[in-house]
Amino acid sequence: MHTSIVLFTSDLRLHDHPPLRAALDGARQIVPLFVRDPAVDAAGFAAPHRLAFLADCLHDLDTGLRERGGRLVLRTGEPVEEVCRTAARTGADEVHLAADVSAYAQRREERLRKALEAEGVRLHVHDTVSTAIAPGAVLPAGSDHFAVFTPYHRHWSRTPLRNPLAAPRTVRVPDGVESEPLPAHTGKWGGETAGRARFAAWLRGGIAAYEDRHDDLAGDATSKLSPHLHFGTLSPVELVHRARTVDGPGPEAFVRQLAWRDFHRQVLAARPHAAHTDYRAKHDRWRTEDDAREDVEAWKAGRTGYPIVDAAMRQLLHEGWMHNRGRLLTASFLTKTLYVDWRVGAAHFLELLVDGDVANNQLNWQWMAGTGTDSRPNRVLNPVTQAKRYDPDGAYVRRWVPELAALEAPSVHEPWKLRGLDRLAAGDYPDPIVDLSDGLARFKRARGLD
Ligand code: FAD
Repeated sequence: MHTSIVLFTSDLRLHDHPPLRAALDGARQIVPLFVRDPAVDAAGFAAPHRLAFLADCLHDLDTGLRERGGRLVLRTGEPVEEVCRTAARTGADEVHLAADVSAYAQRREERLRKALEAEGVRLHVHDTVSTAIAPGAVLPAGSDHFAVFTPYHRHWSRTPLRNPLAAPRTVRVPDGVESEPLPAHTGKWGGETAGRARFAAWLRGGIAAYEDRHDDLAGDATSKLSPHLHFGTLSPVELVHRARTVDGPGPEAFVRQLAWRDFHRQVLAARPHAAHTDYRAKHDRWRTEDDAREDVEAWKAGRTGYPIVDAAMRQLLHEGWMHNRGRLLTASFLTKTLYVDWRVGAAHFLELLVDGDVANNQLNWQWMAGTGTDSRPNRVLNPVTQAKRYDPDGAYVRRWVPELAALEAPSVHEPWKLRGLDRLAAGDYPDPIVDLSDGLARFKRARGLD
């Protein structure tokens, strides 16, 4: 009986899943396989929040497969070996896999192709599983990727999307394929079922006001779909299709963010080393974590003395999450005000973020550090100006910095200006660790701008 393997990676869903559809179209039975790769864990990606999210995704995927007559097969090991072993045991002659962009994923695909070829098994790699438009599907003349978002977005918006695919009705898995038990899960995050419910609620509610409210730190009015997009419990193709059925500037602005996601992925696909090295070197001689240990520790702990920076860093510590505006201004503070290497910040974010994602994290860090694709690489976000604009009444700071809970705006954003009894209201909240103009002067000197 003809058998295919579907190797799930960061595409943990049943709806709109081209590899699954192709496997089911071509075979009587399939092995839905997920391989937990110790090398990925060892490289620092096994952050607690993401492991908890992954466990929920695997349970939900297994439940969905069981409802259709199948089940998930989980293995731990080196993925190429595990896939080859499964193919040999089940007599599978095809493997279906979603395309992915990181250096690791690209190497894994190549190794898998070679190993399977040697066994006479065909590997099919499917695009537009983890992106709405495939990396390389739109290109500028004479280059292998777009380096600037605006023209990319123009082309991206005009490119027709494939139609979303329904989830399969039945899945038949061969008998006797052994699976490890699924990891313990809490159900806090929920996987595909929760992701679809969140997206449906977002279409009915939040998306309409997204254009107006996406930068409101206290309102926290963004979709929070990023971990679902990272683990692939939601399909970007389906999200764009369905968001476009709603009129107005909100859905348009939301779809634009999904284009940003594709943009970073097409950069990383073409320049995988940009996960670790400057995309556009500015010849920075960044301070390392050792050079700037006290500053880095204060930044990580949310004790820099700049309330908006500290609120965002404490949100990250407590929730494994940070609002995009917070990510921007804390990244600007670390790289441009403290002049610390962007890799130090990116690693800290990856350790904690539930949506921690190589393409989005590293390339957004590079964007803010001015070594990436920003056309204004020397922009510096002033934390006080940002605070007054995006947290005008101080509610976000009061939520995350309890020492300042008794203060109103604008004092809550500049407690160092308080005197006498008012200063006492700020409790043991620290004084600023750096003077903003000194930070700016150091950055300008470093970049040769003075
Ligand atoms: P929404 O505002 O509702 O946007 C919808 C979706 O669009 C997001 O879920 C995300 O997939 C995508 N998106 C939004 N903003 C961006 C952006 N700037 N770049 C690329 N895609 C975007 N995003 C991650 O998914 N993982 C990360 O590890 C990550 N690290 C970041 C680090 C820094 C320094 C910065 C400045 C941004 C980072 N982002 C990252 C991008 C962005 O902050 C998050 O995607 C967003 O805050 C997630 O919230 P949301 O789902 O409510 O977003």
